[in-house]
Amino acid sequence: MDVVIIGGVAAGASCAARARRLNEEARITVFERGPYVSFANCGLPYHVGDVIPDEQDLLLVTPQVFQERFDIQVHVRHEVRAIDRVRRVVTVADLVTGQVREQRYDALVLATGARALRPPVPGLDLPGVFTLRTVPETRDVKSWIQHHRARQAVVVGAGFVGLEVAENLVRKGLSVTVVEKAPGVLSNLDPEMAAHVQDHLLNNGVRLALGQALLRVEQGEHRLVVHTDQAALPADLVILGLGVRPRAELARGAGLELGPHGGVAVGADLRTSDPHIWAVGDVTQGTCSVTGAPMYAPLAGPANRMGRLAGDAIAGRPVHFRGVQRTAVCGLFGMTVASTGLNAHTLRSAGQDFIEVWLHPKDHVGYYPGATTMHLKLLVDPSDGRLLGAQAVGEEGVDKRMDVLSMALQMRATVFDLEEAELCYAPQFGAAKDPVNIAGMIAANRLRGDLPAGDWSNVPDDATLVDVREDDEYADEHVPGALSVPLSELRERLDELPRDRTLWLYCRSGKRSYDAARALSQRGFDVRTIQGGLMSRG
Ligand code: FAD
Repeated sequence: MDVVIIGGVAAGASCAARARRLNEEARITVFERGPYVSFANCGLPYHVGDVIPDEQDLLLVTPQVFQERFDIQVHVRHEVRAIDRVRRVVTVADLVTGQVREQRYDALVLATGARALRPPVPGLDLPGVFTLRTVPETRDVKSWIQHHRARQAVVVGAGFVGLEVAENLVRKGLSVTVVEKAPGVLSNLDPEMAAHVQDHLLNNGVRLALGQALLRVEQGEHRLVVHTDQAALPADLVILGLGVRPRAELARGAGLELGPHGGVAVGADLRTSDPHIWAVGDVTQGTCSVTGAPMYAPLAGPANRMGRLAGDAIAGRPVHFRGVQRTAVCGLFGMTVASTGLNAHTLRSAGQDFIEVWLHPKDHVGYYPGATTMHLKLLVDPSDGRLLGAQAVGEEGVDKRMDVLSMALQMRATVFDLEEAELCYAPQFGAAKDPVNIAGMIAANRLRGDLPAGDWSNVPDDATLVDVREDDEYADEHVPGALSVPLSELRERLDELPRDRTLWLYCRSGKRSYDAARALSQRGFDVRTIQGGLMSRG
């Protein structure tokens, strides 16, 4: 059996190794256009910032290792130019010698990844404008910074990769402006969650040019000038982090079916519309594991999982890829930002009904030193309590909560499951009621009708607001016009509260207002507790 894999990084390399582990007899060949296989793209921003100083550390496996350990033939600097599905051959060009030849296959795997998006904006081909997807590109960025003694950079695009690059340029001592067309950073987050990240970036010296469209890049007298629709930003270098598109030309040329985002359409067995061809990783059109709708998720985890499963499928094992949910995490100046599943915008666009839950728990119990606050949000299907998405921002413990929530999402768990989840606990790691449990409890309370909730966006202008914090907290800061009735005095001061109006209760984080709401609603008051309290007010 001849297995041919096109593309030798995350998905391709994973597939090759798995195919070998399951089949000693197969002849396995990998063609990779670039000079390296199995390199760590995710580490590239950190090489720019010298966190990973040695380029060699990014090169995880060499063609020699593939040969020696797995008996897999890896040909770097070899580009596959065409697929003949009838004769089952691919045409391959050796990019060093120029020689072109054909290679037969019984099973073909497309693992050609994605390309960085370069919109048709004038000036993006100027020297000093870079994308960051490969080791050589990263080398170019580093040597440009050094040789031009770069002091100012513009990063276009405020997605995870753009912001990681921005952080690493700051680490190198550059002054950095991030230009983003959307009104906020990180479009996978809802605006109120992204606001925490924006504040943090500003506090760490990153300039944000949000809501600004890139018009052109020009060569100025000494440096580049990035023109947006609102500003002209001088820059010694420009890095584009505008996202990626599937590199699906080969598939299109071969007449394979493509999905709505331009990726190669695959079934749950990762087979394309041709039974002899599989597609894995960033080149594929994903399916959302939450909604079943098309979702493009160019991430390393799904790429590796798909590669491994395609190896199983080629060996004749039944496989079922569960789909993607865009679980992602990013570290920015000591802050961790993570998300999984759908956000409010995508749920609204999909016509999916949902409720939102916000909370601001500590990463571990407050009495153990070093506790930090995180901001956590769940999006939940009100009809059955199923988790639809989650977002978290904080310093510590964010990634572990997101991993739990991500697994819950994939297993189609509900907030009632989160309430009951048994999670590990000791004071330095969490709380006996972990933030994940608390999030589940808040959402479940809402769904059971125990927590009549509102949020700052739906408080009416003439609302009767009641601040249930203590007097000194009220004196420090309160919402103008709010009555002050601390929870500790509430039961004695019921006469001061109107019974003919809805009472909008708030405190610092939403916990005391929940307790107040329980006490008042059982006495016949019409109440709403404002979720997340003042900490959610922004
Ligand atoms: P790729 O890694 O793009 O590999 C495809 C390979 O195919 C390429 O090397 C290409 O040269 C080769 N190829 C294409 N066409 C041909 C052809 N015709 N012939 C031969 N070879 C061909 N994901 C995360 O989950 N977490 C992160 O922190 C993260 N950080 C990232 C940071 C950066 C800077 C980048 C660029 C990506 C990051 N990603 C991250 C995304 C992740 O790296 C990708 O999702 C993953 O690499 C996809 O793997 P892949 O094998 O599908 O594609």
